Amino acid sequence: MSSRPPIFGIDLGTTFSLISVLQDGVPVVLPNALGEGLTASAVSVMEDGRVLVGAPARARATTHPERTALAFKRDMGTDRVYDLGGHRFTAPELSALVLQALKHDAEAALGMAIEEAVVTVPAYFDEAQRQATRAAAQIAGLRVDRIINEPTAAALAYGLHERHRELTAVVLDLGGGTFDVTVLELIEGVIEIQSSAGDSRLGGEDFVDLLADRVAARIETSHGGDVRRHPQAWARVREACEQAKRRLSSVETTTVALVELPIGAATADLEIAFTRAEAEEAWAGLLERIRTAVTRALADARRRPEQIDEVLLVGGATRMPCITRLAAQIFGRLPLRHLPPDEAVALGAAVQAALKEGQASLDDMVVTDVAPMTLGVESATAMGSRVVSGLFTPILDRGTVIPVSRVKRFYTMSDGQRMIDVRVFQGEHSLCKDNRLLGRYEISDLPPAPAGAEAVDIRFTYDLNGILEVETTLVSTGRQHAFVVQQTPGRLTPEQIAKAREKMAALKVHPRELLPNTTALARAEALHLELVGAAREELAHAMALFRGALEQENPDLIDACRARLTALLGVLRRGD
Ligand code: AMP
Repeated sequence: MSSRPPIFGIDLGTTFSLISVLQDGVPVVLPNALGEGLTASAVSVMEDGRVLVGAPARARATTHPERTALAFKRDMGTDRVYDLGGHRFTAPELSALVLQALKHDAEAALGMAIEEAVVTVPAYFDEAQRQATRAAAQIAGLRVDRIINEPTAAALAYGLHERHRELTAVVLDLGGGTFDVTVLELIEGVIEIQSSAGDSRLGGEDFVDLLADRVAARIETSHGGDVRRHPQAWARVREACEQAKRRLSSVETTTVALVELPIGAATADLEIAFTRAEAEEAWAGLLERIRTAVTRALADARRRPEQIDEVLLVGGATRMPCITRLAAQIFGRLPLRHLPPDEAVALGAAVQAALKEGQASLDDMVVTDVAPMTLGVESATAMGSRVVSGLFTPILDRGTVIPVSRVKRFYTMSDGQRMIDVRVFQGEHSLCKDNRLLGRYEISDLPPAPAGAEAVDIRFTYDLNGILEVETTLVSTGRQHAFVVQQTPGRLTPEQIAKAREKMAALKVHPRELLPNTTALARAEALHLELVGAAREELAHAMALFRGALEQENPDLIDACRARLTALLGVLRRGD
């Protein structure tokens, strides 16, 4: 046994995050301060400046939308700044708070320090988004040497069960904010990723948005006001639609009920019924985007749907019957769901963490991965006397097995050319303007030479984490330069990370051990907004008793009142 703490697996999700570890050869999800495996990826700043992370923060999205951030994973790799009641955070900082909460809770559950983790990202995350994820871990004080793609992690968790079968499988991962589709082969415990495709801006949240848009349209027709103008009202509509979407996974008809919803200067009580068929009609465009990504991943892997032995569904949003149906239509078979869809990625991350540690129980497991997007440089070509520039020349094609290192040679275009501008892009379009600029570097002071006589070798090295290193060598002199991507939006320098760490250390984080109390109150407040009449009064009474117990600081009374309040929340929610 090693005395070093184990490496943990973290699924940093759009809606929920999880931390896991391999215990006795089996990956397990560790409970948070609420005793739950799923920690809401939500941050809210309380009126006294304390920062809440997890379920109570998520509950405050309806009561305090201007102080609460959700789904910030979608802004990883961008410069967006969230202002939560005067406290400003970037997406990596918000993610760092979630990572810190996971780390803290798991440390409390296990009684040991957590130093290192393997963190998962959508396969379709680009360079900037991966760098931002790394930065988040650094800000949270976690060492993250290894980032793995979510479907790869799911396949690893799955592979653990199917170690002795040979098969080609597809992983469809529809989370809160992203969609990934991956084709992989599993042979005697070796998992080989054949292709990955996806859409980093398509997830369960978009299904909610489309329902919420319909609700807004109906409100506009019936009451003549734009509910989006009122942040709290809009947050309540979205939350009611989130719940309706989930109910529609098991029932055919549901009602979005909103009482005393502010619309313009007045309020209204609303009941809007949805059938599953209506919802699916609203989602037709999203389902089509999913189909397109699946088709692309199959084409990249040179597989026909009938050559796929198993279809594995991952991510909470694959619980929607329309997703199962779509998968069945495309592949001609019902998908498998051996593992809890919310946990598969985290479980696989724990397997990867154990592989990194070299745990003996996993000796016969190996995983390979592929580059999800094409990487290349800008080039120009001469057409007669004209020079056409802005062309994208790939160096690493998407689907290349990683880690990989490839080199391509480029020549000067004019006599006496003194400078070469190396501009690195990521994407699938033939013109650079349609792809994403990752970084640039100027090779200057070229020795004077006729056009085409001087050349530069550009080497791309793509590591297992999906992080790119670029190296240029001037052929005539052997002068080399390795450069890091600098223009990526949202990329943090070591100084910025150090600063962010200081900022996090100075924050007053709400004590995690008080989380059950805060969560019960936050959930009660959110539900209170939705109720009327006797139910509202009953809830207000239970909340008052609980607040009284908290003021008295009487632990037994606090526990009893919280249990009563939590039970009542369950009853009232069911009656919704
Ligand atoms: P994940 O990021 O994998 O945790 O996925 C969370 C997403 O799954 C969110 O968009 C949830 O709304 C969605 N989800 C969870 N449970 C259900 C359900 N029963 N029906 C539909 N969507 C669900």
